[in-house]
Amino acid sequence: MAQRKENIVMFPLMAQGHIIPFLALALHLENTNRYTITFVNTPSNLKKLKSSLPQNSSIHLREIPFDGIAHDLPPCTENTDSLPFHLFPNFFESTLSFKPHFRKLINGLFDEQNGHKPVCIIADMFFAWSAEIAQECGIFNTLFVGGGSFGFACFYSLWLNLPHRDSDEFLLPDFPEASRIHVTQMTKFLRLADGSDSLSVFFQKVLPQWMNADGILFNTIEEVDKIGLMYFSRKLGRPVWPVGPLLLSTGSRAGAGKEYGISTELCKNWLDTKPCNSVIYVSFGSQNTIAASQMMQLAMTLEACGKNFIWVVKPPLGFDMNSEFRANEWLPEGFEERIKDSGQGLVVQKWAPQVEILSHKSISAFLSHCGWNSVLEALSHGVPIIGWPLAAEQFYDSKLLEEVIGVCVEVSRGMNCENAVRNEEKFKGSSVKAMEQFLDAALMMKKAQKEED
Ligand code: UDP
Repeated sequence: MAQRKENIVMFPLMAQGHIIPFLALALHLENTNRYTITFVNTPSNLKKLKSSLPQNSSIHLREIPFDGIAHDLPPCTENTDSLPFHLFPNFFESTLSFKPHFRKLINGLFDEQNGHKPVCIIADMFFAWSAEIAQECGIFNTLFVGGGSFGFACFYSLWLNLPHRDSDEFLLPDFPEASRIHVTQMTKFLRLADGSDSLSVFFQKVLPQWMNADGILFNTIEEVDKIGLMYFSRKLGRPVWPVGPLLLSTGSRAGAGKEYGISTELCKNWLDTKPCNSVIYVSFGSQNTIAASQMMQLAMTLEACGKNFIWVVKPPLGFDMNSEFRANEWLPEGFEERIKDSGQGLVVQKWAPQVEILSHKSISAFLSHCGWNSVLEALSHGVPIIGWPLAAEQFYDSKLLEEVIGVCVEVSRGMNCENAVRNEEKFKGSSVKAMEQFLDAALMMKKAQKEED
């Protein structure tokens, strides 16, 4: 008789940068043939995901109710895709409302599976409250941080030890190395935080709850990201498993459920016409954009430097990210026609097949906001990074990539594009052992409980 597969419940925050690595982890676990996956999210995110899961996938998608309007979010907001910057605190706070629904969902799974409980809950780093529900039900639980451990160690430490406002540099008190953070590496939210603002209250409540998890999974690789792993292992006294790099395969890129502004084929055909290592790819991820003046400068710089490029453009800061891109207003006059006629560049609106682009032999460098998925995708394909961090832990990712790993040069946190790439090291890594260890821990807990019962 075939052995019953154990069920794993996964619940990411509703943001592309979180859903993508969760999906990559879900597909990885499903492919081991030992687990079934229950993937929890809000209705519209699951609808997008459903249309793009690989055909042979039997991941169960489970809806959880969400009422953004109750948290002063614009109607129909179910993810961060076009969320204005100032509403992020409301968005984070709104996720606390999932708790009773998640409890109900987990208890419902027991009934559906004839009393068999899931072997593990893997929740987003924002949902550390899920440990309480897992413990009530005797289920092993981990958090999954889709980002790098160094970036999140800085982020964690800064929110729990708010920086002094009177200084340009801040020394992270509980950090072993590379511990100086400059004021320009802090987001506006952090610079203004005084402990009583809504984000401080949120993070100071949520981050210490990481200690309640049975362990933390990071989408990272021990060989390049040791400092952060050590930080969390000491700080939390919990196992920390670097199970990365978890990436969606090129075929399943639509997994994020986004529509491309250009077909993969057109993009590939254009890249095929360019020499090896000759094209710069420019993209700032799924939810960040730059100011209109920066966009104008960047366009002029790209054109003037004469290098080939693909640039994914989004409306600049202050405009609805889902609105039409107004090239005549936000780019230099005649820019698009000139670069199209000369063949120098390709401007893609909204969303590009990023992994296909990065895996193409004609790509030479990636001008990136240093979101961790982008970082892993670039490094897995041996593409060096030109860093332009814009928000959150991206500043610390860029610091790690430049100062510790040496595969990036940061050119801007504002408007300073004078530096040049100085290091093109490549790396590849795998974390099979960490993945095995975490699964063994979950299985052991379930076995021990069965024996008790
Ligand atoms: N992405 C993409 N096409 C785009 C922009 C982004 O496929 O035009 C994908 C990218 O490959 C990555 C994710 O969206 O997997 C962005 O995640 P990241 O952590 O880099 O940044 P975030 O969006 O969370 O800031």
